[in-house]
Order: sequence, then C-alpha cells, then structure tokens
Amino acid sequence: MIEQRRGDGSLRHLITLEGLRRDEVEALLQHSQRYVCLAGQRPVRGTALRGIQIATLFTEPSTRTRVSFELAGRRLGADVINLELQLSSRVKGESMLDTIYTLQALHFDVFVIRDAEPGVLAHVAQHVGPHVSVLSAGEAHLAHPTQGLLDALTVRQHKGRVEALRIAIVGDLLHSRVARSAYHVFRLLEAREIRLIAPPGLMPGPDEFAGCARFTTLEEGLEGVDVVMMLRIQKERFSAAALPDGAEYFARYGLTAQRLARAHADAIVMHPQPMNRGVEIASEVADGPQSVIRSQVSNGVAVRMAVLETVAAGRGA
Ligand code: ASP
Repeated sequence: MIEQRRGDGSLRHLITLEGLRRDEVEALLQHSQRYVCLAGQRPVRGTALRGIQIATLFTEPSTRTRVSFELAGRRLGADVINLELQLSSRVKGESMLDTIYTLQALHFDVFVIRDAEPGVLAHVAQHVGPHVSVLSAGEAHLAHPTQGLLDALTVRQHKGRVEALRIAIVGDLLHSRVARSAYHVFRLLEAREIRLIAPPGLMPGPDEFAGCARFTTLEEGLEGVDVVMMLRIQKERFSAAALPDGAEYFARYGLTAQRLARAHADAIVMHPQPMNRGVEIASEVADGPQSVIRSQVSNGVAVRMAVLETVAAGRGA
C-alpha cells in the first residue's frame, strides 16, 4: 500500500482511507464541519491555500466531485485548473506522468485525479516531487476517499454518531468505489452493523468487506436499519451482456417508499449520484423526507476544503 504520510506523520496524499487512523478521520470530519454552510448562507472562505496551485485531472466523467474540489480550492484562495484527459490505457501511467511533470514545472502542488484504472494514482504519487500531494477523486472500483468522508459527515449530522447504527449498502457493490470507501470509514468509526444488499452477481467475493452481513433481498436486508446507502449501477463497468435490465432490477432492488418502510422510521437515505431514477431508486424516495442526498453534495465541498487544507498545512512542517 502507498505511504500517504510524510516522514513527520502529517497527511500528504489521500488515495485511500485504508490505513488511516481513527483520530485522523475524526480530525478531518471536525475540520470539515467548520466549512459546512446552510442553504442561503454565504460559504465560509479562507486564505489557507493562497499561493497553492491545484490541477484536477479526470479521465472519467464527473460533475459533483470535480466542481466541489474546484470550489473547495477557490474558497481557500488557491488557483485551480481543470483538465479532462483522453489517454489510451496502454500508455496511461506514463502519459499521465508526462502531464504531471509539465504541471509540476508550472508550479502545481496538488493533483486531484480520477482514473478508471487501478494503480495509476499510486504510480503518480511515487513519482511526484516531495512537495506535491496527490488526492484521489475516484479510482476504478477501489476507492473514493473524499466520498467516504462526506458520507460519514452526512451520517453524523443526521444521526448524531456512527457507532450505534445499522447501515445497509445496497446495489452494485461489485463495481463500487463509493461502497469500498464507505465500508472503511464506517468500520473505522465502529458502526454497529454494516449490511451488504445486492443481487448475487453484484455481490463482492468473501475476501472483501470482512465482517459485513450479506443479503440478496432488499426486504430482508432493510429490516430495522438506520441508514440506507443506495449505489448507482456502474453501467460503464459491465460488459453489455451482463448489464441488468433496468425495469427488472427496479422490481427486485429498487428502493420504493414501501420497501423503505422496513427500515427504522427515521432512517436516512443516501445516494452518491448520479442517480438512475426508476432503476436503483424511486423519485418519491430520492426527493422524499428521509433523503439526505442533497446534504451529501453540500458536504462534499466542506470535506474537500478540509482535505486540501490538511495536506497543504503539512507541507510547511
Ligand atoms: N460519483 C460517484 C463516483 O464517481 C458515484 C457514481 O458515479 O456512481 O464514483
């Protein structure tokens, strides 16, 4: 696993939540909370990143993650540029590095990268200069650490704490980086129970998600849970033949108000977006009173501000 800390122990890269200590995650969540703003309020701004140059490099589409990293950087005074890269996978690691070296020569210090291929982020992190940080904006099916943090922050805000909770993660677990990062953070924060609910073909193997209860029906799995985290079907990671039919999937695994009634009466519903309405989730639930999907989006900016500020603060140490 890539070393994410500097010699003095401060956080330099954030590529995975695996290996982070609980106190580090707690500190990031508390830091994020300072940047949360309510609808209609003016966002909190700062100058902690003045003089820092951030480049976002995405080889997969993104709306929320890219925009929120950009806003986060700007709100703290950084210069931010966004690059969408079209790289053939054969040369990806090397062409990505060429781009990074060019940007390093232009004094960029933080690279926010989304990539569909496992390992490219660690490869880049191993080759950048000592003052440079690499932050994941989503890596293949493996990790989406800032999403995991924003999910934990959202659960805390709405349910007080993670420890006492039964959490269900539902849907295309096999292909989901969101689920993997959520699992790591909820385990670290000692959730009472994490349940996985998926069709057999989308359930990850037993070597992953240790300690989770596994269910193949929504009706059983949702019984009494406090948090329902729905996942998008990652169409881009299926071969055409294996992709489930949307209507059939909804009939068995779609979250409707009727099914949600099996969860705790004040359970919250989450979704990382983009949503396939009528496939994973009914609009009545996505837009209903138990949905915290929009607060996940707002929290994304706060979490990314805290992460950027944390990695930048350690540079001076
Ligand atoms: N936006 C999230 C991601 O990039 C979730 C998704 O696309 O399903 O992983």
